[in-house]
Amino acid sequence: MKLQHIFSTYSYQGNNGLAGIKYCSHCGEPYELREESGKMRPVCPRCGFIYYKNPSPGVSVLLVENGQVLLCKRGPGNFQSGKWCLPCGFMEFDEDYLMAARREVKEETGLDVVLQNIINVTYNFLSSQVHSLVIVLTAQIIGGTLSPGDDIEAVKWYPLQGPLPEMAFAADAMIIEEYRDEKLAEIPVD
Ligand SMILES: [Zn+2]
Repeated sequence: MKLQHIFSTYSYQGNNGLAGIKYCSHCGEPYELREESGKMRPVCPRCGFIYYKNPSPGVSVLLVENGQVLLCKRGPGNFQSGKWCLPCGFMEFDEDYLMAARREVKEETGLDVVLQNIINVTYNFLSSQVHSLVIVLTAQIIGGTLSPGDDIEAVKWYPLQGPLPEMAFAADAMIIEEYRDEKLAEIPVD
């Protein structure tokens, strides 16, 4: 498997990813920037809480039927609104990645799926605030009715051969292309 790393869209500099993180989430005291474990981090001078800014784990699902891939158009108010992506989203704290993938597909497309394979793990560093680590899965549709939901404006099948609509994430376009060209290895999950 050739892992795809998308890390160039946003050039991260210094601590600007910490903009807007001003007050301790435990006691409300203004943070001070201090060096902790080799980096400058917001530290609460009152209660000692240290704010560690970490990437967010997410899932993305490639659904292919009859040579077509299912894409979602991101609704108003969403990051990259109006552009298209694979059904995707962030994991909830009480979910594993398989539960998250099944839930996101259901919420965004109305379809029930059985997950099949991990085909990639990507990361998207899209802004100072958005750094996601995404497990990409394939799945088979077993039920439901295709209809857009959960902040999705439209769901539509597109030929794997393209042309694809304007994509929200470079990683999605690359994964579709590599899947089409049979360049991705598959690791079974369920
Ligand atoms: Zn505090």
